[in-house]
Amino acid sequence: MITDKLQRPLGSLRVSVTDRCNLRCRYCMPEQEYVWLPKQSILTFEEITRLVGIFTSLGVAKIRLTGGEPLLRHDLPTLTGMLARNSGVRDLALTTNGVLLAKQAAPLKQAGLGRVTVSLDTLRPDRMRELARTDRHADVLAGIAAARAAGFPLKLNTVVMRGVNDDELVDLIEFAMAHEAEVRFIEYMDVGGATGWSAAQVVSQREILEVLSARYGAIAPVTTGDLSAPAERFRLTDGTIFGIVASTTAPFCRSCDRSRITADGTWFLCLYAERGTDLRDLLRNGASDAVLADLIASTWRGRSDRGAEERLGVVHRAPLYQVDGLRADPHREMHTRGG
Ligand code: SAM
Repeated sequence: MITDKLQRPLGSLRVSVTDRCNLRCRYCMPEQEYVWLPKQSILTFEEITRLVGIFTSLGVAKIRLTGGEPLLRHDLPTLTGMLARNSGVRDLALTTNGVLLAKQAAPLKQAGLGRVTVSLDTLRPDRMRELARTDRHADVLAGIAAARAAGFPLKLNTVVMRGVNDDELVDLIEFAMAHEAEVRFIEYMDVGGATGWSAAQVVSQREILEVLSARYGAIAPVTTGDLSAPAERFRLTDGTIFGIVASTTAPFCRSCDRSRITADGTWFLCLYAERGTDLRDLLRNGASDAVLADLIASTWRGRSDRGAEERLGVVHRAPLYQVDGLRADPHREMHTRGG
């Protein structure tokens, strides 16, 4: 096992397959225009599969496909099948906004995808129109139904924003129960891209628990399972489990085993990291697997990132980047890093 300076293993890898997205969520892509990664820089399926193979040879076992919106990448089931054939990949998951999921759920299942997480911030189509500038709420619900029908274990991601959707916590728990899904409430994060972020809009883990215990009674923390997972999990008295990703008010950097590859092959050790490591150049210039593996291993061994914890120490907390900084380097965007 390869560990970093804080003894955190190189454990899970998020692979962004595109920086493009078909939604414009206010907390992620609020601008009218974006600078996109150049087309020719986007990794091919073969390049992604080779890179993932090198990561699994170093001990990575969990792969999550993300984006942008990953279902915008043409023929994602083919890539999924290529990755599923790697026996080192023991957990192959997808994070999607669900808009295009209804048609793709069954082919993805057939290709070997193991789990699906759908982002669902509201149950109200009118609210989604405002929040994500889309009329396709019904398509997201159809995507969730199709994922269930295909037999996927299902999670729902909800970014909770004060005054936007914080009155839907109970409704979302009930929806998740009805669809045999596990909801994870995510604190609004001041990541790159969240140019409208303010501390006042963050609904903390503590507040979320208060609201839910007022409705459901005692809530117990779940202490078994994957403790490196970003969500802290909780159980209601009837057994329903939900999660909270408290990256903003109670970060979990000490157990973070995650890194991220952007669609153009830039490897980031932390969601908040200023810079990443360009793997594409080596990949395209004939570097052997051994050379790439050495670079990845030595870079991970030098990792000491604790981005979310460091943000917690900032006194007057504001968005991480303003628009100019994001335009200067789109790798700073959450939609490029994959969330
Ligand atoms: N398009 C896919 C989706 O919607 O799930 C995958 C990419 S998206 C960037 C991944 C996750 O990041 C989503 O669950 C989204 O809600 C979350 N996210 C984006 N911006 C965020 C922010 N400012 N705070 C917290 N979560 C955020």
